[in-house]
Amino acid sequence: MKKEYPCVEVKLWKITHNAKEILSICNKRGIDVIGITKVFCAEIPIVQAILNSGIKKIGDSRILNLQKMKSINCKKMLLRISMKSQSYEVVRYSDISLNSELDVIKELSRTAKMLNIIHNIILMVDLGDLREGVLVKNVIDTVKEIVKFENIRLVGLGTNVTCYGGVIPDENNLGKLVELKKNIMKVFDMDLPIISGGNSSSLYMVMDGTIPEGINQLRIGEGIVLGRETSFGRHIANCYDDAFILKGEIIEIKEKPTVPIGKIGVDAFGKKPKFQNKGIRKRAIVAVGRQDMKVDGLTPLDKNISIFGASSDHLILDITESENSLKVGDIVDFKMDYGCILAAMTSPYVSKYYSEDFICLSS
Ligand SMILES: *Cc1c(COP(=O)(O)O)cnc(C)c1O
Repeated sequence: MKKEYPCVEVKLWKITHNAKEILSICNKRGIDVIGITKVFCAEIPIVQAILNSGIKKIGDSRILNLQKMKSINCKKMLLRISMKSQSYEVVRYSDISLNSELDVIKELSRTAKMLNIIHNIILMVDLGDLREGVLVKNVIDTVKEIVKFENIRLVGLGTNVTCYGGVIPDENNLGKLVELKKNIMKVFDMDLPIISGGNSSSLYMVMDGTIPEGINQLRIGEGIVLGRETSFGRHIANCYDDAFILKGEIIEIKEKPTVPIGKIGVDAFGKKPKFQNKGIRKRAIVAVGRQDMKVDGLTPLDKNISIFGASSDHLILDITESENSLKVGDIVDFKMDYGCILAAMTSPYVSKYYSEDFICLSS
């Protein structure tokens, strides 16, 4: 079957493998894993690959993605705190949602009542990263209100760090969450089964064995997709970092100087480019650019290839040192960072192929 380029090729078995490894180290500490699907737009083959690992719950930040997964029989979590205007969709498409605003929770309760169901929520607590969540000092007062809503069941506390403020999860801040839970259970004489202790940045504590007892859930996206924790970028043992590969086609190869000829103004993005003079180099242009996806964060699999730069439609490579005798029409493979995967999976200009079967799912 003819492939369309540029494309992302996803090795599904590597995703299953990574998910299995992470589930196993987390389970050893009594932690459940929610598989997060947003970075790959909840593409169904990849969701299935995650569920094949033994992970039983998935989470996404977008209702649209939850809708896409509605025929998949597993518990689903809405990650981005709910929009008031979407209360119907939140209650309908998620089994549990993350929340921090009483006004919205009230609306969720009203909607759930209309549908004659109970909606589960996790109250998000801000431990200092300054993204979403109720400040620690306001948690008890907020819970006091939440328990009044008839069709809402508060099932736990959650937090998210390292996303905006870059705060690293540690025994101190996650410990506070566990303490809060104990406090709430005492004050309100209720059970609070879930303590959702963050994302892939909390995985290093699972690896080190320092994650506070009581944290019993993590929401893991990047860890599964790239096999790394995100506090320090450490590789997770036995995991793959190349489940997602970007492939692009060479459309020109020429020997050219490394410094442009003429007066240097600004490039297409308003930046004044800088050039290091390396003399005449063999350059290849690959047909993928900034309009297709995010190209910063690509790493050629061929270690002897480096990237000169990119424009909207072109990626310019230095292939002088490559031992492969590349020619026009050849395909170059790249590893991708999180931002690259996010942009490529979201882009209509990048085709997607899964497993070794190369099933094309894009139009
Ligand atoms: C995206 C997201 C996650 C997953 O983050 P990773 O770093 O990819 O593991 C977890 N929780 C929330 C609330 C998120 O928005």
